[in-house]
Amino acid sequence: METITHYIKGEPVDTRGGRYADVFNPALGEPCARVALATTDEVNAAVAAAAAAFPAWAATPALARARVLFRYLQLCQQHTDEFAAMVTREHGKTLSDAAGEVARGIEVVEFAVGIPQMLKGEFTDQIARGIDAWSMRQPLGVVAGITPFNFPVMVPMWMFPIALACGNTFVLKPSERDPSASLLHARLLKEAGLPDGVFNVVQGDKVAVDALLDHPEVQAVSFVGSTPIAEYIYARGSAGGKRVQALGGAKNHMVVMPDADMGMAVDALIGAAYGSAGERCMAISVAVAIGDAGDKLVAELAKRTAALKIGDGTTPGAEMGPVVTSAAKQRIEHLIGQGVEQGATLVVDGRGHKVDGRDKGFFIGGTLFDHVTPEMTIYKEEIFGPVLCVVRLPDVGSALELINKNEYGNGVAVFTRDGGVAREFVRQVQVGMVGVNVPLPVPMAFNSFGGWKRSLFGDHHAYGPEGVRFYTRHKAVMQRWPNTASSGVEFAFPQMK
Ligand code: NAD
Repeated sequence: METITHYIKGEPVDTRGGRYADVFNPALGEPCARVALATTDEVNAAVAAAAAAFPAWAATPALARARVLFRYLQLCQQHTDEFAAMVTREHGKTLSDAAGEVARGIEVVEFAVGIPQMLKGEFTDQIARGIDAWSMRQPLGVVAGITPFNFPVMVPMWMFPIALACGNTFVLKPSERDPSASLLHARLLKEAGLPDGVFNVVQGDKVAVDALLDHPEVQAVSFVGSTPIAEYIYARGSAGGKRVQALGGAKNHMVVMPDADMGMAVDALIGAAYGSAGERCMAISVAVAIGDAGDKLVAELAKRTAALKIGDGTTPGAEMGPVVTSAAKQRIEHLIGQGVEQGATLVVDGRGHKVDGRDKGFFIGGTLFDHVTPEMTIYKEEIFGPVLCVVRLPDVGSALELINKNEYGNGVAVFTRDGGVAREFVRQVQVGMVGVNVPLPVPMAFNSFGGWKRSLFGDHHAYGPEGVRFYTRHKAVMQRWPNTASSGVEFAFPQMK
């Protein structure tokens, strides 16, 4: 069986610690590879390689760094099918969905190649007689990225293209569930001309994460994953003086007003709840039906949920693949059981779903609950599976109250034809990313991505201009020359003269 290794200083490196984890093909329910689990020494070796590569990479002109990323961009486009096949094999999502995540990752590289423009500072001539001032942004040093299983190509690409463009060196710790794509990134970056040591990968689990969090040479940590781990990363990383952005979990609501285009709303909910088997941090997991929207919505959703085409992600026409692990399947099916016990109406039950020829696959059918209330576990917990909960409320005010009380604040949507309702909703909702008749308002690469409340710890969102700020430090400079100004001792606080 193939072993997925680390990648340090431009070379694949196996672990010497003897710990490996199985990587499963979730559609087959069988291991397809094994992944090395790093020791602390192996993490230290990756950080040392990145630290050694930093001075030369930081001193490389931004345009030259951008040119390496231009070549990497072209290589990613040429290898899209290879990336997508890896994602489908180890994650389970359909090939078209996997190709979509590759495309969204490539967009961040398209943004990052404009880095010379973005690193321009501000200049003010003559702030006082004979003195000019300017600002510049400089790279931090070695930065680390720790990423989740659900977007094994795209989420690392939210981080390293911008970090590298800014002049940092990088250590990636991908999810141990679907680690292969990290090595393809490494190989393509090398082929694009990236010097060895600038981009490194350590495979692993908590041991690797903790070694990165505690390493004094790591200046900043970007994390994407579940909320409890995000909170832990933020606390431990910032206690060690690092800059940390830690993006966490979500419970995303979509409010359907009675005047909404019902066909559009149903299409949106089916795609946003069940696409990628609900394993997206921007998936809609709660539909909030206002007034008499509920009956029409649930009737239509029930038909469409029951008719979902579920199969191996490589099967043409499959709309939804399996969930990622057997443990995830058990957890989700247990939560569905709790929904029933706690009194929600189970309209479509996806438990025990079987796919022909894939008996051991981790499949769950689309599941729909009606009359869900905020006290129920299926409302409170992030299920991260193909389960949609319908909550019925009388008006948009009570929907806002519900959403604003929720501990998460990643994404939200409102479906309506009323511009006034939409405008007030956008202004009042306590959520970081808002869609108006758009179910998954995932910002483009030139904007920035991030939630509020317990969906993000730290204060910089990911990629876009916020990414550039996260991966650089601001420096303010004042300068004068002996022939342009008189000098002399001054004891008073400096003022413009
Ligand atoms: P996870 O939190 O289990 O794992 C994320 C990373 O943390 C992995 O690299 C993993 O190896 C590491 N990790 C896991 N347990 C750890 C521990 N105890 N100590 C240190 N490190 C640990 O998340 P996941 O299951 O891979 O991904 C799904 C979660 O990610 C969902 O909650 C989803 O909402 C969230 N997510 C959020 C966003 C966002 O932008 N906010 C995007 C994608 C996914």
